[in-house]
Amino acid sequence: MTALPPILSESLDALADPVIVVDGRKTILFFNKAAGTAWPSLVTGMPLSFTLRAPDLVDALDSVIAERSHEHDGTFSERHPVERDFSFRIRGLQDRESSSARTTPAALVILRDLTEARRLESMRVDFVANASHELRTPLASLIGFIETLQGPARSDPNAQTRFLTIMREQGRRMARLIDDLLSLSRVEMSEHRRPVDLVDMTSVIQQSVDTLRPTASARGVTLDVIAANEPCLLPGDRDELLRVVENLVENGIKYGQSGGRVEIDLQPVGSHPSDDIALSVRDFGAGISPEHLPRLTERFYRVDASASRESGGTGLGLAIVKHIVNRHRGRLVIESEKGQGSVFRVLLPRAAL
Ligand code: ADP
Repeated sequence: MTALPPILSESLDALADPVIVVDGRKTILFFNKAAGTAWPSLVTGMPLSFTLRAPDLVDALDSVIAERSHEHDGTFSERHPVERDFSFRIRGLQDRESSSARTTPAALVILRDLTEARRLESMRVDFVANASHELRTPLASLIGFIETLQGPARSDPNAQTRFLTIMREQGRRMARLIDDLLSLSRVEMSEHRRPVDLVDMTSVIQQSVDTLRPTASARGVTLDVIAANEPCLLPGDRDELLRVVENLVENGIKYGQSGGRVEIDLQPVGSHPSDDIALSVRDFGAGISPEHLPRLTERFYRVDASASRESGGTGLGLAIVKHIVNRHRGRLVIESEKGQGSVFRVLLPRAAL
């Protein structure tokens, strides 16, 4: 295997964008640090197409290696493990005459991650559409009450008190919506960057349960933590994991109220210390019909919109949970049976990055 001269490989390692050098058979001779971070499965000596499943990039590489063109630009998208968009530029290298030989650098692939820029663009569009739709109802009601207070109810103190109470609730609803929309935007923006800090899930559960105990007891629901009391460390973002547990337990309290109990469990999926950790939040309430299950994590999807609104829901809680779980490279599994209650299970990897 021909290594690049050290001065060259060190220079390429210093670049923020991924760079890969291949030989005439599209076998990887070198990749810089940024490429290794973007695609941990890259291995020198292996075909580039084993990792980068991008037909346009491979075709462009063929064309440059066959000297049909000196340079080729394009874009491609990946769907797994998270959605990412890249642009690429391929440059033929001088040694291409002997490019059929192995180990001779034939082309340079320079990549750029466009994910963040594209995500920002589509989030801006989504934000305007969703927020305006959801904010319109409370806003229309606020304007209606203001007009009534200025007109027919001008000298009716009883009506004024009643209307102001409703108006305060509508204002709070708008504030909750804006808070949730902003949380969603934030987590979506950082979704492609897996958190690196170690977080103790046991204490995350404890803190969430302590926060929600008053809400639960006000609704006659007990919170049972089954998880062992010892620390359980995994790479994560503490605030985001608190949000996950709180959203799931809060839903269990709101929608599973009739069951009177919410169970919170934390267990390793297997017996190996690096196996995934499963956080389960189970309620014993009315449950969810199967046709709704695949859509629950969509923004603003609710089984019963008025029940959700009455309990202060924005329809964004599970969308936020899903994005946080994705960012942690985990999985959210929802199981429910009508009349039996529901289990929301979050599988989180404990393995190092
Ligand atoms: P919301 O703010 O409406 O609670 P979520 O995104 O948290 O929004 O949940 C979406 C919908 O999923 C809820 O409106 C409700 O219909 C349903 N749902 C969530 N959790 C449960 C649960 N534990 N039991 C029954 N239905 C649930």
